[in-house]
Parts: sequence; C-alpha cells; structure tokens
Amino acid sequence: MTVETTEIKPLSIDDIRASIESGTSRATAIAESYFEQIQSRDPQIHSYLSVNRERAFERAARIDDLAAKGEPLPVLAGVPVGIKDVLTIEGLQATAGSRILEGYRAPYTATSVQKLEAAGAITLGKLNCDEFAMGSSNENSAYGAVHNPHALDRVPGGSSGGSAAAVAGGMAVATLGTDTGGSIRQPASFCGVVGILPTYGRVSRYGLIAFASSLDRVGPFTANVKDAATVLGVIAGHDPMDATSSPLPVPDYTADLDKGVSGLRLGVPAEYFAEGLDAEVRAAIERSIDQLRAAGAIIKPISLPHTRYAVPTYYLIATAEASANLARFDGVRYGFRAKDANTLSAMYRKSRDLGFGAEVKRRIMLGTYALSAGYYDAYYKKAQQVRRLLTDDFLKAFAEVDAILTPTAPTPAFKLGEKSDDPLSMYLADIYTVTASLAGICGLSVPCGQSAEGLPIGLQVLGKHFDEAMILRVAQAVERLN
Ligand code: GLN
Repeated sequence: MTVETTEIKPLSIDDIRASIESGTSRATAIAESYFEQIQSRDPQIHSYLSVNRERAFERAARIDDLAAKGEPLPVLAGVPVGIKDVLTIEGLQATAGSRILEGYRAPYTATSVQKLEAAGAITLGKLNCDEFAMGSSNENSAYGAVHNPHALDRVPGGSSGGSAAAVAGGMAVATLGTDTGGSIRQPASFCGVVGILPTYGRVSRYGLIAFASSLDRVGPFTANVKDAATVLGVIAGHDPMDATSSPLPVPDYTADLDKGVSGLRLGVPAEYFAEGLDAEVRAAIERSIDQLRAAGAIIKPISLPHTRYAVPTYYLIATAEASANLARFDGVRYGFRAKDANTLSAMYRKSRDLGFGAEVKRRIMLGTYALSAGYYDAYYKKAQQVRRLLTDDFLKAFAEVDAILTPTAPTPAFKLGEKSDDPLSMYLADIYTVTASLAGICGLSVPCGQSAEGLPIGLQVLGKHFDEAMILRVAQAVERLN
C-alpha cells in the first residue's frame, strides 16, 4: 500500500488562542471543524472509541462567552484534545481498550484531564489503546486496531496508538497518553508527532486505570515541541490524590525552549546502536546527531552497560504489578459480567475469561508466577535489583552529560499483523524505551526524519529526573534543524 501524501497542517495551541482572542474564530467553530475531521478521517484510522459532542460544545461555548466579554483566556482556551481511554472522565465510558470494562462509566475525573479542562481545553472524546495499555501496536484493543495516518496498512504503535494517530491525523491538537514501557514515545515515533514521558511523579496518576503502578506515567502528544511543553506545564504538579506525585514546583517549560544546544553535552550510548537497529532509523538518528553537533552541542559517546537486561527486567516487574492491579476486575464491581455462571467462583472465572484478551491473560499469568512463593526471589526480587543497576547507569551518565540521544524504536512503524502472533518480537520492539521507564527519568520522542517510504522516524531524548526543560530544549533544536 502506498503512503498517504496528504499533508496535515495542524493548528498550534498559540494559533488557536490568538484566533479566539482576536475574534477571528470561535471555540465552538474550532470544535466543529475537528469533529468534522474525525467524521471524515477516523473511519479509516479508528483512533476514537467515543466522542462527546454535547459536552465539548457546552465547554467551547463557555470559552466563547469569555472571549466575547473580553476576559483573559486560559492557556489552552478552545484547544481540542482527546484522552486515552485508560484515563477517567466523570460520567463517561472508560474501557481501557478492554471488554471487561464494557459499559463502565467513571465516577470521577483524572487529575490530568481535570487540569487540561480547567485550562480551557475542549475534550472531544476518548481514544483507542491496547487493552490495559499492554502492547506496542494497538492491536490488543478489544475494540479494533488503529491505523497509522501515514500508511494505513501500518500500526500506529502502542499502547497509546489512538492518542498518537489522532494528533497525526489532525483529529486533535493535543492528546493524553500513558507510558509504562514506551507507550507514549514509541507511538509518537511511529506517527511522526512529539510525545513526552514525564519524570515519575511529575504528573498525577489519579484517575489512571493502573497497569504497573511503579512505571505508569501520563503525558502529552502534540504536533510540535512548543505545544508539548505547554501541555506538560498544565498537567504537571503535585496532587494530594496521588501519593507518588512530587511536590517540586513546575517550571515554565516554554521559557528555555529557544536557548539552543550550543555547549550542551549530549550523550550517545553505544548499546542503543547495536544489532537489530534498522539502517534507515540509524541513518536518520545519526544525521540528527550531526546537525546537533554542527549547532554547537558536544556529542559524547557513553555507555549504559546494563541495557541488555532491560527488556526481561521490565517484563517481570510490569507483569507482576499488572497481575496485582488487574485482580480487581472480577465481574462484580466494574463493567462486564459473564452470564450463565451458577456459583460465585464460576462467575469470577467466566467473567475474567471472556472479559480479558489473550495478551492481558498472558501477563496476569506471567506476573502471578513471578510473584509466587519460591519464585519471588529468583524473579521479582532479582528484577528489582537489576532495575537499580539500570538506574545507576543513567545516574552515572548524567554526571557527564546534560541529555542522552537514542533512537526511540528500532524500526519505523511495522505492518498490521506483522508481529501480532509473536509476543517476543513485539516485546523486543520496546528495547530503547523500557530503560527510562525503569529508571523513572524523563524522556521524549521528537520526529527527526523519514524512511524512503515516507514513514516517520523519532529521536528519543532522555533527561535527568525532573529535567523536562532540558529535553524539551534539545527537542526544539531537533525540530528546527530537521
Ligand atoms: N509495549 C510495552 C508493553 O507492552 C509498553 C506498554 C506501555 O508503555 N503501556 O508493556
């Protein structure tokens, strides 16, 4: 199949605010045009699981009222956004891409969504994703796959595939996704958009349906770096409802964006350029690194020696935590309940059997095994020790460099169906992203080129804990130079 050539020129957050402020457009008209885009484009892409026109127009009308009265507009006034369906919004469905949550309506709103909306954003709807955010291709959604807007026969990446595809397809200006082992960065790379993994603790997880609580993070997707910085600034910050959220103040992430990279020390880890890296991805990343060097950055070769243990470590810890988190879906409290079960235990068993998909079941079994008596020390405890070593690798590296540059994913977007029967090859696609997840540091993916076929390629920029301003500054330079 040929790659679609339609150029999508999305509006930026600043464009939208300025046009509403000056009266050249209205929030309701902007929302309408995005709903039209969803109606015409999403039948092929399938990024939205639900849209909420009434709710959106009611909120957009409030922004138009403010503008008509000449009152100051909040920073995301009238900005159309979409929310990954693992984040809750009071009264709306939250499926987490799973059949087991069919019909469930959330009783409260996630803090990140509440902050976006308080800043004037207009939520258009909920976005498709891999079931319980488990996957790298969005093919694990119980509600159907998402297609990559750049090539409809390719995956958008996962698990936040709908969030990436909606921005790439011009069906939202910004979206929220979640990243446990790469689920923001990898789909951002596959869809040619910007996606940020904030430091663990930077953005509240309250209202996020948990996959692996020590790894789960909420972050934005946007078409450009400045918008990503703006949205991150809105959703970041302490939340008394999330005990792991940090009390550190939130800086203005747009303040240093244009400072450039001159004099910055940027590390390039040898372990991320080894076997398995696609030649075109390598070429695009190396070209980007050369451009940064030419712009005055000091490029330093570094080593992150425990990298090769990251994928098995991640899949032990993530599945162990998932097996505990998913115990709550029992057919009683939420969503789907199997019919024709005569006893309580038969009802549990049947509801979970019919409600969960194959990948989720595989992970619950793996995780339960890793946590069981006799295996706990050999697997789970060992994985926690390796997690420490991986974190130390980064802390040592950051003593010498300001940020680290790597490919986001080893290949551009692969074909739908290509890896869906091969869980191991799917897990290996997470090789460059799971390390930052385990270490709790921040990272992002920024578009840095294309394959010969026109498929987007993303550069991953990793930063110290709570140094989002630095990685955004580097990403801005990459965006400018590209
Ligand atoms: N692809 C990884 C997994 O399947 C990461 C998913 C995520 O970050 N939510 O677990």
